[in-house]
Amino acid sequence: MDKYQALQRYFGYSSFRPGQEEVIDALLSGRDVLAVMPTGAGKSLCFQIPALVLGGLTLVISPLISLMKDQVEALGQNGIPAVCLHSQMEEGERLAAWELLRRGSCRLLYIAPERLESQSFCSFLQKHPPRLVCVDEAHCVSQWGQDFRPGYLNIRGFLDSLPSCPVGAFTATATPQVKQDILGLLGLRRPVIRSTGFDRPNLYFEVRRPAHKWEELKKLLEPRREVTGIVYCSTRSQVDDVTGRLKQAGFSAAAYHAGMDGEHRRLAQEKFSRDEIRVMVATNAFGMGIDKSNIRYVIHYNMPGDLESYYQEAGRAGRDGGEADCILLFAQSDVMTQRFLISQDRENETLSPQQAEQVKQRSLYRLSKMRSYCLTDGCLRQKMLEYFGETSKKPCGHCSNCLCGAKPVDMTPQAQMFLCCAVRTGQRFGSSTLISVLRGSRSQGILDRGLQTQSTYGLWKTMDPKLAQRLVQKLEEQGYIRFTLGEYPVVKVTQKAKALLSGAERLYLALPQKEVQSTPIRKGGLEGASLNLFEQLRLRRKELAAAEGVPPYVVFSDSTLQEMALRRPVTREQFRTISGVGEVKLSRYGDAFLEVIRAFQQKRYRKT
Ligand code: ADP
Ligand code: MG
Repeated sequence: MDKYQALQRYFGYSSFRPGQEEVIDALLSGRDVLAVMPTGAGKSLCFQIPALVLGGLTLVISPLISLMKDQVEALGQNGIPAVCLHSQMEEGERLAAWELLRRGSCRLLYIAPERLESQSFCSFLQKHPPRLVCVDEAHCVSQWGQDFRPGYLNIRGFLDSLPSCPVGAFTATATPQVKQDILGLLGLRRPVIRSTGFDRPNLYFEVRRPAHKWEELKKLLEPRREVTGIVYCSTRSQVDDVTGRLKQAGFSAAAYHAGMDGEHRRLAQEKFSRDEIRVMVATNAFGMGIDKSNIRYVIHYNMPGDLESYYQEAGRAGRDGGEADCILLFAQSDVMTQRFLISQDRENETLSPQQAEQVKQRSLYRLSKMRSYCLTDGCLRQKMLEYFGETSKKPCGHCSNCLCGAKPVDMTPQAQMFLCCAVRTGQRFGSSTLISVLRGSRSQGILDRGLQTQSTYGLWKTMDPKLAQRLVQKLEEQGYIRFTLGEYPVVKVTQKAKALLSGAERLYLALPQKEVQSTPIRKGGLEGASLNLFEQLRLRRKELAAAEGVPPYVVFSDSTLQEMALRRPVTREQFRTISGVGEVKLSRYGDAFLEVIRAFQQKRYRKT
């Protein structure tokens, strides 16, 4: 069997995605490989296909039990014999797994790195050497990343104890230090290094700066009740708060954060992965273990501390290649929260004062980049890719900034008014007080301080408050003002502002020409009857998955169901041409889904 046959027969796909074929070829020709591909690019297939073509046993080292279980279940559904060994298995399961391994009838074995500490396990593999070893989430070997796992450091010694075989390392993290660590700490030999681009064209990016986040979130989720997604918050209490409100508003939501006990967390994750709840509200503790492919949106209720975290978290959407939305709700206070977190960073205590200071400076630098992503009026995708060292020449044309058709407007006079107001009031106030003065507020705070007599009072009477905020943000971004650190940041006018006050420099704001509404429900562009059929197919999938005790997306992915709903195959021959339908799934599920489609079509014909 060659790689194309394996792709079609077992996975039901007709072509490889970018990068996959090269990685597969390298492994098949006996080379070590480091593959850096973004989440959802299809890394698993890069070692699963070689495992089938090579025969024998392929060993896969993976950091989390939930990841292993998901993949083993998915492989089983495709008729590929695979097992995992982990600490939470029941006796019977374990014996069955060992039986398969001893008989040599198992293609892929998934383990956590800690298993390599078991002498008996290692000597089994020395006697029955694997044809290929793959290290998934290979960045876990590096202490530079946030997912460091000491167990990964055992891998190299273990590899040295085996007869030589190709080794593949897979990750979505591409920073140079992590890459160096993977190459060195895993001891890859003359590896083929393949990095695909970081762009994920199926993700839509949007930044909103709402006055009321909760209201905004509700507005965003209302049309998304039927699809699944994640809402990330930066603190545990916020997770609990948002979850409570969502439940109250009738949403199917659950919370996930490190303050909950392990059992509750596991339960929440399982329900989410089985489509039993729609929205997971979580801190960044909800992460790597999610292989769920049909996440249609990731909304950040707060801005994260850096773009690495943001892209990783947002990137959990749309793994099935279908359209998905990544929306960030920004507020100036998010920046304060992140600054506070950096100043409190506990890990710094093990470092020397100089080192700690350096780490802090780096964190502040990354924060400033994150912030400028939120404030930019340029293309969001370009900004992101640029940060990861990729140059994209053109604006993407479909992020919120590109879509709003922004036109630069000269705001120099208004900017001068703000600077004057700050200077004339003695540079003692924060931005909201200054904005109130300029907008001519009659609030008690303003009147008490006699600010209504200022010459700049009321000059911005007609200005939209949101626009006022953006103008101030832009002034800071361009370095004309800065905020003092501390609980109540005060506006200070910088030297640079002179040029703006004199008119030598000008300030432009890109003003959106229209309000952007992110496409609310993404079901692969399905409408009317097809959407209706898609819903019926989803129901059938849910029943089948429940009967077998697996997550629904393991039966078929959303994109496979979408294709069925659009093309409506009624014979087995037609059904097998749907992407994602391999031979085993055809015989296992074909009839169950064909039944739904046929009944649907008959009803339609009778009607017409
Ligand atoms: P990664 O590990 O890189 O994040 P996965 O291996 O989990 O990504 O794959 C993501 C999804 O893409 C899975 O649902 C997988 O079945 C699908 N996929 C992978 N390769 C292909 C392909 N060549 N054609 C269609 N779908 C694919
Ligand atoms: Mg993966």
